[in-house]
Amino acid sequence: MDLNKNLEKYADLLVRIGLNLHEGDNLTIRLSEYALPLARLIARKAYQAGVGDIQLVFNDDAITLSRFLEARDESFETYPEYQVDFAEKLFLDNHHVLNLHAPNPDLLKPADPARIAQWQKVAGMANKRLMKYTMQNKVKWCVAAVACPAWADAAFPGMPEQDAVQKLWDNIFMTTRVDQADPIAAWEAHDQQLKAHRNFLNKARFDRVHYKGPGTDLMVGLVKDHIWEGGSGFSAAGDRFFANIPTEEVFSMPDADRVEGTLRATMPLSLRGQIVDDFHFTFKDGKVVDFDAGVGKQILADLLKMDEGATRLGEIALVADNSPISNTGILFKNTLFDENASCHFALGAAYSENLEGAAERSEEENRKLGMNDSVIHVDFMVGSKEVTVTGIKADGSETVLLKDGEWMI
Ligand code: ZN
Ligand code: ZN
Repeated sequence: MDLNKNLEKYADLLVRIGLNLHEGDNLTIRLSEYALPLARLIARKAYQAGVGDIQLVFNDDAITLSRFLEARDESFETYPEYQVDFAEKLFLDNHHVLNLHAPNPDLLKPADPARIAQWQKVAGMANKRLMKYTMQNKVKWCVAAVACPAWADAAFPGMPEQDAVQKLWDNIFMTTRVDQADPIAAWEAHDQQLKAHRNFLNKARFDRVHYKGPGTDLMVGLVKDHIWEGGSGFSAAGDRFFANIPTEEVFSMPDADRVEGTLRATMPLSLRGQIVDDFHFTFKDGKVVDFDAGVGKQILADLLKMDEGATRLGEIALVADNSPISNTGILFKNTLFDENASCHFALGAAYSENLEGAAERSEEENRKLGMNDSVIHVDFMVGSKEVTVTGIKADGSETVLLKDGEWMI
């Protein structure tokens, strides 16, 4: 099927299912040059659906890299407060966010790691008050991807550029179900399936989850009134939306103080334009007390130094190994795709939807209940066919949840 027809269906899916846009909504689109054709289709459909205002936040890889290589040190010392104010004003004016992600997994490889770490810290602190709009679902938000040459080359090394980009688009359309006759119906059915697993886990009331596999022996406590989520969620205004397209995970809230043991990542991680690979963490009382990486150790070290919450978990997510993304057999080197092919955790901030009553309590009260807080939220993959995941109740009874990559429930 030709690219234009699929882009049209993709735009439709993002407007109707991803963000569920309607009369009274406004829309902010984050994009780069590669997303422009899709963004134009989305804008037309969004206006047709009744959206009042569309704002574009444009980023360019080449200009970003130039800044890291050439700009003066002072440029990385402060973050313009008015940018945060403007973005917050948009949220307060009913703007919802679509991130059309076209990543170059190692864009910043030639840049000075100290400079990247410095900017992460400055930008992370400055944007912290914006994070709550998405982490607490105050607005509707959706992350989706578009193919670009650098990402295609990372996913399919050695393939001629045009073929690689085409192959990446084909896989995006397949894993987002855009290639199906009726993608909207396919997403409704998929949502039902995710909700069935979510409902089972919510009913089971596990106290902790155990992971066992090569290099991994980890016990992760869950917060007491945890909620498993999966598929569609709801904004503060009660609007249904999908935060990620694609999404295959059911996820919940680990207790930031009750994680013990060692886990080995099963896939490399592209972290802000740099690659980290062959890495593991050891946790004690919820905190990372030891780690190592075959590639990119300094990048991980800088990440863990961001704040106290960066050394603790904020998300636990279960994904079957036979998901459509996993079945492609492709290592996408893009977290949106790789995290939906594999069980994963996130270091850093937790989602308030995963803890009963979190939205009504203060940050301090939530933290006492085990909800992690941080300026970061970084997902990394731990699942594979060799990793067995077992839910354990407070009375010690065990239920195998995932084995040989398959759901056992
Ligand atoms: Zn996740
Ligand atoms: Zn996450």
